[in-house]
Amino acid sequence: IEEQLRQSQKMEAIGQLTGGIAHDFNNILTGIIGSLSVISRRIEQGRFDDLSRFMQAASGSAHRAAGLIQRLLAFARRQSLDVKPLDLNRLVQAMEELLRRTLGEQIDLSTVLAPDLWLASADENQLESALLNLAINARDAMPQGGKLTIETANVRLDQSHPSEHDDLSPGDYLLISVTDTGVGMTPQVKAKAFDPFFTTKPIGQGTGLGLSMIYGFAKQSNGHVRIDSEVGRGTTIRLYLPRIGSQTERDQIDPPAELPLGR
Ligand code: ADP
Repeated sequence: IEEQLRQSQKMEAIGQLTGGIAHDFNNILTGIIGSLSVISRRIEQGRFDDLSRFMQAASGSAHRAAGLIQRLLAFARRQSLDVKPLDLNRLVQAMEELLRRTLGEQIDLSTVLAPDLWLASADENQLESALLNLAINARDAMPQGGKLTIETANVRLDQSHPSEHDDLSPGDYLLISVTDTGVGMTPQVKAKAFDPFFTTKPIGQGTGLGLSMIYGFAKQSNGHVRIDSEVGRGTTIRLYLPRIGSQTERDQIDPPAELPLGR
């Protein structure tokens, strides 16, 4: 039953995905067709003065369409993760400059990196794009500026882990959390935030793919992602990734044999 439920949820997500693409694409094509028809009318009339404005509009729309397809391909390709041992602290440090530039001067970025952090098992490129997406979402949620904190931690979940980790099997995980002091999400937005193409942003600004891709990435990595958010206070996104060679991973291959320790 669980498998069927998962399957039907998958089908629903794919349905939303296709519907969303069709809708976005239609909007973009309408723009391109509009610009092209203005251009051809003006050429017929011999008015060449303002043509480049319409050419630029058409070309801008075409680029948006290309970007949409790029993200769609990345979404489809997430099947083939290139999983390697990852030092999350190093990855965050390597991205700090890029993140600072993306966030702008109004946003105060700080990092809290746990000492003796375990190695995570995840795809580096996917994680980088996840972090960038989270930073962009945080920036959008703080138009007046604010604070963004990226934190790493080791997390050990045993059998008796609290219900908030229902979606994770027991084992060792790396936690990377991104906290902003932005507008926050209403419960309705939070409930839909992972849906492909769900966005509250104006057309052309949001694709609604960021969090759904992060969700897919987390699940593919045998991890999990969760949202804590309060309107007017801010949002924390927590991404759990399995520790390399952790219990959960090993269990899937073979239960570890008891090794007699030599005396
Ligand atoms: P997009 O950013 O393109 O809209 P996402 O899937 O990344 O797509 O996010 C979906 C929606 O979730 C956003 O439109 C926004 O309403 C909400 N959201 C995401 N991140 C945050 C955040 N940090 N603070 C407040 N709302 C957020």
